[in-house]
Amino acid sequence: MADLSIVTPIEYLKGVGPQKADVLKKELQLFTIGDLLQYYPFRYIDRTAFHKIRELHAQMVGAQVVGRLISVQEVGEKRGRRLIGQFRDDTGSMELVWFQSLSWLKKSLTPGSAYIVYGKPSEFNGQISMTHPEMELFNAQEKKVGNLTMQPVYSSTEKLKKFNLDTKGIQRLQQTALETVYRSLRDPLPDYILQKHHLLAYPQALLSIHFPQNVDDLNRAIRRLKFEELFFIQLRLLRNKQLNTQKYRGHRFDKVGNKFNTFFNERLPFPLTQAQKRVIKEIRLDTNTGAQMNRLVQGDVGSGKTVVALMSMLLAIDNGYQACMMAPTEILAQQHFSGVSALLGEGICTVRLLTGSTPAKERRIIHQQLEDGTLDILIGTHALIEDKVKFKNIGFVVIDEQHRFGVEQRAKLWRKNVIPPHMLVMTATPIPRTLAMTMYGDLDISVIDELPAGRKPIKTVHFFENQRLRVFGFMRDEIAKGRQVYVVYPLIKESEKMDLLYLEAGLENLQREFPLPTYKISIVHGKMPVKDKDFEMQRFVKGETQIMVATTVIEVGVNVPNASVMVIENAERFGLSQLHQLRGRVGRGAEQSFCILMSGNKLSKEGRTRLETMVRTSDGFEIAEVDLQLRGPGDISGTQQSGVLEMKIANLASDQAILMEARNSVIEIFKEDPSLSAEKNILLAHYLNQRSPGISWDKIS
Ligand code: ADP
Ligand code: MG
Repeated sequence: MADLSIVTPIEYLKGVGPQKADVLKKELQLFTIGDLLQYYPFRYIDRTAFHKIRELHAQMVGAQVVGRLISVQEVGEKRGRRLIGQFRDDTGSMELVWFQSLSWLKKSLTPGSAYIVYGKPSEFNGQISMTHPEMELFNAQEKKVGNLTMQPVYSSTEKLKKFNLDTKGIQRLQQTALETVYRSLRDPLPDYILQKHHLLAYPQALLSIHFPQNVDDLNRAIRRLKFEELFFIQLRLLRNKQLNTQKYRGHRFDKVGNKFNTFFNERLPFPLTQAQKRVIKEIRLDTNTGAQMNRLVQGDVGSGKTVVALMSMLLAIDNGYQACMMAPTEILAQQHFSGVSALLGEGICTVRLLTGSTPAKERRIIHQQLEDGTLDILIGTHALIEDKVKFKNIGFVVIDEQHRFGVEQRAKLWRKNVIPPHMLVMTATPIPRTLAMTMYGDLDISVIDELPAGRKPIKTVHFFENQRLRVFGFMRDEIAKGRQVYVVYPLIKESEKMDLLYLEAGLENLQREFPLPTYKISIVHGKMPVKDKDFEMQRFVKGETQIMVATTVIEVGVNVPNASVMVIENAERFGLSQLHQLRGRVGRGAEQSFCILMSGNKLSKEGRTRLETMVRTSDGFEIAEVDLQLRGPGDISGTQQSGVLEMKIANLASDQAILMEARNSVIEIFKEDPSLSAEKNILLAHYLNQRSPGISWDKIS
């Protein structure tokens, strides 16, 4: 092999060979030399920063200490077996503790020698210790010469270590790889972008990420590589968006007509919020460009998305089209149907409901009316996308709670007209802006960030199990005032049996505390037949029962304005966005509403942060931001199917500023050179012409 480059299979790299190549492929999915170079350290040990033992405390994330290993001793038996080292410097001493690889450690550690120890300090009874610290023999000479002050740490696996590919081994490979291909490395970013954003050149960045000279050098490398990663994601997303607008002609809604105006002037029971007005205007402008609209509307529960959807549909109807609205569950579809019907009143246009339980006879009528154009608005569930459902001329589609629908389902709606209808996707799960820009980078995003005036903020409190009697007393008071109460239990697949038992025990307890005939309790959970569920739900909606005991089936969309108390049991087990959704079930009427978070006395740090966040704020976007910081982008609801979030170095939670910079940079490039035909943009055009591995980009949106 004369010319090795980043695309050369990894087995041709000196020091690798077929066997190592095999584990590298299997364990780390590294196939080429380029893949290896993009396998970045996950942290660095700052070899310039040393602490004295006296300075150590348990709040430190990690610390490096030079000292002498005085002794090593094995203590305990069986599962309690561990190795304890006494370690000392000129300020004090600490214990080093190991639970694993004891025999190997006993052989390799030499008491009496000086070591550099790196680990997380913990503290017990004033005694400092480190568990499983990294140990390196201290060589005073080396430290002085020491050219690598920031020492990279690569994650490795047991298998890799068997092939000498621990962090040091991987580092050696990186060195060989860099030496081998350094001169053939080409920068994927054009020069003028590097200059404009003050970015390191690519070869330099790669060198510095693996072998940083110092902290500044490392930070510059990290910034450059993060920028590049985010830049190319945005380049692709924004190019897709551009292509969509060019490719898909859209129905042109060029007038605001009678139906819209009649509704607005005569039927609308409240003034629209500024946010609602703004979003309706965005939709109006968007549907009058001749291109197909693909817009995501994010708005917290209760922000009034339904009326925005309705007015958009009226706009379509005024321009001679039909509209439909799809919801993920039958209950929700029903609620949209009654909500929309009530808002519209008689005489403006025709609305019907189509779900799985629509009787055949009515179904036939609906099909007929859709085809002859006498039906203006169809509201329903998945039933809408069946092939039998044909429209005379559908122009506008609203999808509620978007992440519950798959891509194919949405694509089917596109095909219900020769020119695809405009798509309005509504979600009540606010997603942090930066995340939305990446997940839905090729959609336009509207935000309803304002609640209708006059809403009383929901009071949220956190109670521990031993305060339960107070909570019952409070529930009684509220019920005496004529209000209704939700009590929600977690029901999680992995622990379903236990959860159902808790639910039953909780229910029995409630039945004792709130006995018939004074109190009536509804119960709804996912294991019940749909018929029973609906029946119980209806009893609560009609006010026949005062308490609704439920699992999270009520999470989405249910609207009972008289229900003013939400009690969430085992609240620490719910995710933040789920808690927020649940809380959104109350606070829908004129009364002061309450959300009571019940938890056990023992809380994890994260659990505590979640509950504290809920108590502190009711702003869905703020909550989503905390959720993003806590869990990282991959776990935010709705993101799981999206491959864009698997990044090599950038992190959407912490790199928002770089993301904005990269995105704005791409926007500017497309503005100036939409077809990327300028000489200076050749690299970018070339990048877009390659097939991107792994991610199916048409799946996003
Ligand atoms: P969501 O965004 O959660 O779907 P809805 O559309 O169901 O919210 O609206 C919640 C409630 O607020 C409904 O009862 C609706 O009629 C009412 N509403 C919507 N917009 C306004 C407004 N501008 N002023 C007062 N009430 C409003
Ligand atoms: Mg809604």
